Amino acid sequence: MKPAAFDYLVADSVEGAIAALGRGDAKIIAGGQSLVPMLNFRLLRPSVLVDINRIPGLAHVREDGNVVRVGALTRHHQLETSPVIAAHFPVLREAMAHVAHLAIRNRGTIGGSLSHADPAAELPMMAMLLDAELRIVSSAATRTVAARDFFRDALSVDLAEDEIVTEIVLPKLPPNTGWGFEEVARRSGDFALAAVAVTLALSDGRIAQARIAMTGVAPTARRVAEAERLLIGQRLDDGVGSDVIEAVRAAAEPPTDLHASSDYRRHLVGVLAARALAAAWSRA
Ligand SMILES: Cc1cc2nc3c(=O)[nH]c(=O)nc-3n(C[C@H](O)[C@H](O)[C@H](O)COP(=O)(O)OP(=O)(O)OC[C@H]3O[C@@H](n4cnc5c(N)ncnc54)[C@H](O)[C@@H]3O)c2cc1C
Repeated sequence: MKPAAFDYLVADSVEGAIAALGRGDAKIIAGGQSLVPMLNFRLLRPSVLVDINRIPGLAHVREDGNVVRVGALTRHHQLETSPVIAAHFPVLREAMAHVAHLAIRNRGTIGGSLSHADPAAELPMMAMLLDAELRIVSSAATRTVAARDFFRDALSVDLAEDEIVTEIVLPKLPPNTGWGFEEVARRSGDFALAAVAVTLALSDGRIAQARIAMTGVAPTARRVAEAERLLIGQRLDDGVGSDVIEAVRAAAEPPTDLHASSDYRRHLVGVLAARALAAAWSRA
């Protein structure tokens, strides 16, 4: 199908974009890789699209003390190839290779992926894993929201109609941190049936901080607090305990759809968690 008619405005500043959004019934377009299909299927019928691609200063990946700042317009392929991301968040670089295909990664943006919040997308999971914060600007205020509070439900986030995500802030990981990333999709470039990302930080040879995030198995990306707690103080030389894997499976609420059953996804997420934890342990 073709989209319903809309006006098209090109913003050249964040303030200009916010003013255009204030006209009501408007949608931001960034990479367009999720929005345009929704327009074509007429799932959305905004009266105006506000194009933010020409706003300067929104596509950076920059170290700033203990954090890395990523502009909302940063393309997926920029994250995949950034030396700063490779140095500080190799788990994120690995995840980006699983997002769609190169042509889509050349257009899709981190701000767009987080704002769209597909339940099987990789970037919301990485934002949860890395304790990201989102900087959000409106005409009234600038606010910062933790990723764990941003994702509300499938395709639903804490973002008002006149707000724009401008930056994602990633706190650097502790020393001696290993990582793992595992995903199963039906074909290369497809959305994940299930994926798990892990970081393990060691102190005196034992796990001092564990983070486990998953996607594709619940309405939003999730952290698995119970499994993270069980791992503290452990060594994984003899493999990952079944209590940890069961905690991961218990935290999943996988859907059944034409690609896979709920039971299959729940089984899968446990297998992927065990593999990702083993990889993170050996890297740490
Ligand atoms: C064939 C195909 C396969 C794909 N496979 C995957 C995959 O495997 N994994 C995956 O994660 N993604 C996948 N995607 C989606 C892709 O990653 C998109 O790029 C991403 O979800 C949206 O980013 P975008 O910049 O294109 O956003 P857009 O499509 O431009 O916008 C998406 C939504 O976010 C809003 N928005 C955009 N930017 C901002 C902002 N800065 N502030 C506030 N709101 C904003 C828009 O108004 C819209 O509602 C796929 C897409 C296609 C077409």
